Amino acid sequence: MTPAPGHAGLATPRTTALPDSSAAEPALVIENIEVVYQHTIQVLRGLSLAVPCGRIVALLGSNGAGKTTTLKAISNLLPLEVGQLRSGSIHYLGERIDATPPHLLARRGIAHVREGRHVFEDLTVEENLIVAGNALKGRGEKPDLDLIYEYFPRLRERRAQRSGYLSGGEQQMLAIGRALLGKPTLMLLDEPSLGLAPLVVEDIFRIIVRINQEQGVAMLLVEQNAMAAFGIAHYGYIMESGRIVIDGEVARLAQDADVQRFYLGYGDGAQELVSFRNIKHYKRRKRWLS
Ligand code: ATP
Repeated sequence: MTPAPGHAGLATPRTTALPDSSAAEPALVIENIEVVYQHTIQVLRGLSLAVPCGRIVALLGSNGAGKTTTLKAISNLLPLEVGQLRSGSIHYLGERIDATPPHLLARRGIAHVREGRHVFEDLTVEENLIVAGNALKGRGEKPDLDLIYEYFPRLRERRAQRSGYLSGGEQQMLAIGRALLGKPTLMLLDEPSLGLAPLVVEDIFRIIVRINQEQGVAMLLVEQNAMAAFGIAHYGYIMESGRIVIDGEVARLAQDADVQRFYLGYGDGAQELVSFRNIKHYKRRKRWLS
C-alpha cells in the first residue's frame, strides 16, 4: 500500500521530470483508522494510505465512501462533528498527530482546503490572505502575498474585491491561495473541481501541479472527477465504504479494466454495477453465463 514513484497522467500527461520519491520520507502515513460519528455511525473501517513528500496522491471514491471524513481525520476536525477516531494512527513527517489540535497542525504545515471553498465572504481577497497568514505564527516567516498572486494573477486583479462576489473558480483559487500562504508541506484538497466548468478545472489543476513541482508541496487530492485527478496525480487510492479497495501508480490504475469501467466511464454494462464489491459477483456471474 505504500505509494511508489513514477507517474503518467491521463488527461494532461505531465512531461516535467518529477522528483524521485523512492527515497522520500512519507509526509503522511495513515494506518488502519476507524472513524465513528455520534458514537454509532461507523464511516472509516481500517483505512490505510500514505503520501510521500513532494508527491500528489489522489483519493477517489463514490459519494459517501468516506473521502471527506478521511481528510477531517487528518486535520483533526472530527470532534467538531461529534466524530471520533476510534483506532489506528496518523503520522505526519514521522510524528504521531492524531491528538494534535487543528491550528497546530496548520502551523506545522498541514493545509486543508475544505470542500465548499470556505472563504470569508465579507472580507476582500487580500484580507482573506492576510488572515490565513496566521498559520505562519511562531515559524518566524512572513506571509508572501506576491507568491500567491504569481500563481493566481486573477486574485491580484481582484485583491480589493469582497470575496463573496468572486466566481466559484476564483473562490477556489482563493481557498488554495490561503492554504499556500501558510507554506505547507502537505495540502489536503477536497474536491477542488466541484461545481466548476471544465476549463476552470483545467486552469486550477495546472496551478496545483505547478505548486507541487515548484514548492514541493505534497498533496492528498480527494476527487470524484477521476479523469482530472488521474491527469495530475502520481499515485491513486480508490475507496469504498470506508476502506481502500484498490491502489497503485496512476499509470497502472488507468489501465485497470475495473477502474476504467467504474471511474473513467469506459466500457459497457456499468449501469447495473454500483460498487467495486460487486465486481467479484459480476465476474463470477459472467463466467457462469458463458
Ligand atoms: P462525498 O463525495 O459525497 O462528499 P465522501 O466520500 O466525502 O462523499 P463523507 O462526506 O466522508 O463521504 O461521508 C461518509 C459517510 O459519513 C456518509 O454516509 C455521510 O452521511 C456520513 N457522515 C459524514 N459526516 C457526518 C456527520 N457529521 N455525522 C454523521 N454522519 C456523517
